[in-house]
Amino acid sequence: MRIIGAVDIGGTKTAVGAVSESGAVLERLERPTAPREGFAAAMRRTKEMLREAARRAGAEFAGIGVACPGPLDPFTGIVGDVGTLPGWQGGNIVDDLEDEFGVDAVVENDADCAALAEANWGAAKGSSRFLYVTISTGIGAGIILSGQLYRGVDGAHPEIGHQALDCSGPLCYCGARGCWESLASGPAMASWTGEQRPEAGELTAAQICDMARRGDPLALRAVEREGEYIGLGLSNLITMFVPDTIALGGGVMKSADLFLDRARAVIRRICTQVPAEKTHLTLASLGPDAGLAGAARAWIHRALRGQEI
Ligand SMILES: [Zn+2]
Repeated sequence: MRIIGAVDIGGTKTAVGAVSESGAVLERLERPTAPREGFAAAMRRTKEMLREAARRAGAEFAGIGVACPGPLDPFTGIVGDVGTLPGWQGGNIVDDLEDEFGVDAVVENDADCAALAEANWGAAKGSSRFLYVTISTGIGAGIILSGQLYRGVDGAHPEIGHQALDCSGPLCYCGARGCWESLASGPAMASWTGEQRPEAGELTAAQICDMARRGDPLALRAVEREGEYIGLGLSNLITMFVPDTIALGGGVMKSADLFLDRARAVIRRICTQVPAEKTHLTLASLGPDAGLAGAARAWIHRALRGQEI
């Protein structure tokens, strides 16, 4: 059985693991990413963790897959101007790991990695038109068509979270007003609630969800609004792609029970031009291991062209 080295880079922490070719996370280590200490220092820590994961698994890695927030170039491995990784622009993840370990390394946008993992090992097994959508600090998505990852021109990752929904909405760093992320991400929910009740101080989306469960009227309105905007963004995706499955992941979806009824009602109301009832809307199923499993799956997808051994 091949063992794949997996790296899941986030703005706060980096997880590293040894993953089997069937998607089982055999070993897992985690350290702060500390992006401000620089790209080279972070790569040094990542390589140390990879060596430790290989030692614990008692294996040589067949290859290494890396999940990283975009923008990035999946073919060269060069990091772009990533908001949560300041100062990393121009760093080459692939070259650094290939030099160190002498195997092929592959880097993909983290939402694409999760989409590949869910499509092969999770909620969308057997689905041929699949969208994975993650709603957390930001909103991202990966598109899998007939087993293949959809890429834009020059390998660009489509940024579905920045589809504009309300041109009078909040201004996003992307330049648009009222894009999906600016209306329905966790911070968007927190910021709207803070505007309505400034005296409550800064609340997180998770705290607002807890308050809604206790019946707080403003938190209930925030949850309704969140469900409406989740439904609106998903309706656009269903109308444009008519996928057979959409799986939802990310921190905000830990409280999916608070939003999904409303979101489904929006979809029923406005997705009238396509057979929307045939799109199976479900939750991502791989949980906390999705990042590492996704990184490993990205390597399988590229290096082995998706073939299981
Ligand atoms: Zn935006």
